Amino acid sequence: MTETRDTVILGSGCAGLTAAIYTGRAGLNPLVLEGHEPGGQLSITTLVENFPGWPEGIQGPELVENMKKQAARFGATYQLAHLNGVDLSVHPYRLQTSAGEICTRTLIVASGASARWLGLPSEQALIGHGVSSCATCDGFFFRGKEIAVVGGGDSAMEEALFLTRFASKVTLLHRRSAFRASKIMLDRAMAHPNIELRTNTIVEEVLGVEEKDVKGLRLRDVTTGVESTLAISGLFLGIGHEPNAKMFTGQIDLDEDGYIKTTGNVLTTRNGQVVQGVFACGDVQDRRYRQAITAAGSGCMAALEAEKFLEEHGH
Ligand code: NDP
Repeated sequence: MTETRDTVILGSGCAGLTAAIYTGRAGLNPLVLEGHEPGGQLSITTLVENFPGWPEGIQGPELVENMKKQAARFGATYQLAHLNGVDLSVHPYRLQTSAGEICTRTLIVASGASARWLGLPSEQALIGHGVSSCATCDGFFFRGKEIAVVGGGDSAMEEALFLTRFASKVTLLHRRSAFRASKIMLDRAMAHPNIELRTNTIVEEVLGVEEKDVKGLRLRDVTTGVESTLAISGLFLGIGHEPNAKMFTGQIDLDEDGYIKTTGNVLTTRNGQVVQGVFACGDVQDRRYRQAITAAGSGCMAALEAEKFLEEHGH
């Protein structure tokens, strides 16, 4: 007979770990399933300058490690497992995980979002052979080389700036002429002597599939239609993220882009009706703010709702 837990938290990023701190302090002994990317997006970022309380900034992995220790102090436990299937039709809910079946009275979904790809066959063929979505993970391999970054938001700016530590030149390619990035990040990228910005440009093909090593890009200027090639050794994607919520299709409501729909901040719904005891927080339900601090805030809300739900149901 599988033991029934009070709270299971899916995901170990900022939202999940904040939920773990709160549910831990409430004595709910939360189990955190760490997922495919333990620590979430903070674990693959560099300096976080806008998390309150760190006047000089803090490294993302250090921030997330601190949260993990903080939650463990209050009884949170961690399992390196991911969710294979879920049945929310009967309460307590049943989760099929890579580490076996788990039963839980409340479920906090904090499974975050994963990097988006262009979807070109040549790009997919060269992932890990010069194509990457994580500058912090792979930048080191491009010391002294010329590389390109795709995207026009803060992620792309951050990646381009970070990659100048290694690469001799970074070409930033953006499909439009207007940028989504915040002014401060765009100004930093524009002012950097080793970053060249090319707007109205899309990647048609990543060259080097036969060699199993990125050799360059075939580009197209979308205003003139003119094609060109750019010799580079690495391509980094900074084009946003996809929510990790596919496993909930049909069980809770998702929006047209696959984000979990919430009401009352963190309550999930099925056909518009609240699903009892299932809460969503962080980037899996937030397409607007997507910040470490907002993820932490919604993780706190989800934990307080879980606590309230258990109390109301006599646990
Ligand atoms: P965004 O959605 O803000 O930007 C994605 C960028 O990628 C856009 O410029 C978009 O182009 C482009 N893009 C998307 N799909 C494609 C495609 N198929 N081909 C080419 N280009 C594409 O995502 P970010 O990850 O940059 O940022 C998400 C959130 O996180 C934001 O709120 C941001 O402020 C925040 N953030 C903050 C940081 C910081 O403060 N240090 C660091 C990183 C992120 P288009 O503009 O044409 O749609």
